[in-house]
Amino acid sequence: MKTYTCDVVVVGAGPGGSMAAKFCAQGGLQTIMIEKKAEIGAPLRCAEGVSKKWLQEVGIEPDPSWIRADMVGAVIRSPSGYTFKLDESKAGSEVGYVLERHLFDKALARDAVKAGSKIMLRTSCTDVIRENGKLVGIKAKCMGEEIEIRSRVIIAADGYESQVGRWAGIETKLALNDIDSCLQYRMVNADIDPDYCEFIIGRSVAPGGYLWIFPKGNGTANVGIGIIGTECNNGEAKTYLDKFIDTDPRFKNSQAVEVMGGFVSTCPGLDCAVDDNIILVGDAARIIDPITGGGICHACRTGMYAGKVLTECAKTGDFSKKALMPYEKMWRDRMEDKLYRNWMAKERLATLDDETIDEVVKLISGSDIKEVNVYNLLRVIKERFPKVVEGFEDLI
Ligand SMILES: Cc1cc2nc3c(=O)[nH]c(=O)nc-3n(C[C@H](O)[C@H](O)[C@H](O)COP(=O)(O)OP(=O)(O)OC[C@H]3O[C@@H](n4cnc5c(N)ncnc54)[C@H](O)[C@@H]3O)c2cc1C
Repeated sequence: MKTYTCDVVVVGAGPGGSMAAKFCAQGGLQTIMIEKKAEIGAPLRCAEGVSKKWLQEVGIEPDPSWIRADMVGAVIRSPSGYTFKLDESKAGSEVGYVLERHLFDKALARDAVKAGSKIMLRTSCTDVIRENGKLVGIKAKCMGEEIEIRSRVIIAADGYESQVGRWAGIETKLALNDIDSCLQYRMVNADIDPDYCEFIIGRSVAPGGYLWIFPKGNGTANVGIGIIGTECNNGEAKTYLDKFIDTDPRFKNSQAVEVMGGFVSTCPGLDCAVDDNIILVGDAARIIDPITGGGICHACRTGMYAGKVLTECAKTGDFSKKALMPYEKMWRDRMEDKLYRNWMAKERLATLDDETIDEVVKLISGSDIKEVNVYNLLRVIKERFPKVVEGFEDLI
């Protein structure tokens, strides 16, 4: 059996994996990133919407090659059609670009290669290797051939319900009420506003989630839905999405040219995303916004933190859980409060009936919020509907 050796093996070449590989390689660590698919970033499993602010924080320069559309703002729509339109000045931290995600992911992988990381495609991790109880690498199938990659540390960047994490003894399986099941069509010839992302909320529209329209130019848009796992016994996501498209006049002459489905976790992150000789990043660690299901920026941040922490650990050669704990501190200091607050808000919003959602949207559209983000919206809601934020008002 072919055996490779390195300092760090990264499983998964999504945004979390590529950022981790880049920062590990930059720190002088011998890095191998493996990806089970034949092409990085494809097939698409994303609505491709991101805000702009975090890009600078993780050192990513906006690049026209992966930006499909630059948004002017966003619209939030209630079940009865009340809308709240946010222009760019107000929507700063919540809207931004609609990506060409497959090109974005490849650009991040390219940066990892530039930094010195090796990439192995069509290489699927099949287990971890333990010797005397200690993690010492992974087993994988590379183009059909069994291989081993021996490493001092493993980065699990393998996404939703990380299998690598599970093989390493970390519980990553999710309960049905902690996931949203998603379905998305790429619609063409739609009569939509090309400058605004739209979010439609309400029990009758998308129970426990929301419906989105993210424009991609030329009458093309990602039109999708996420609904809570407990409401998905029988293809309900499709029923809700088809009903919306069939009844919204903007899609009268429109057709789908692409369909995709996927899952996002909608709960707080793992209790601990490190153990001896292993770090989990991005979706693998459930570090994703529970209310929007947005996780690209979180994956990039956590990938970067993992690379930085491992670079420090390499100086002493200590990759024990204790030595990796600075990673836990970094992501929690930066994101934990917000993720927890958004989780509480999501749980509560899921219980509201359509009439209350109509009232909430009417209320926020009449408010004078300076910049719209989940935090500021909750502050307005807290004043008028304190019951909605009961139990987590201290976080607002
Ligand atoms: C329908 C949908 C819409 C979304 N829309 C948005 C959005 O608009 N904006 C946003 O910010 N986020 C969105 N997200 C979430 C976002 O896609 C994720 O948060 C993000 O991709 C997480 O990055 P990651 O690197 O952690 O994981 P992933 O991007 O999932 O990457 C994991 C990689 O690991 C690989 N892999 C898995 N197992 C193995 C294995 N055993 N061996 C080798 N490779 C393996 C996979 O093939 C994959 O390439 C959406 C998610 C879904 C499902």
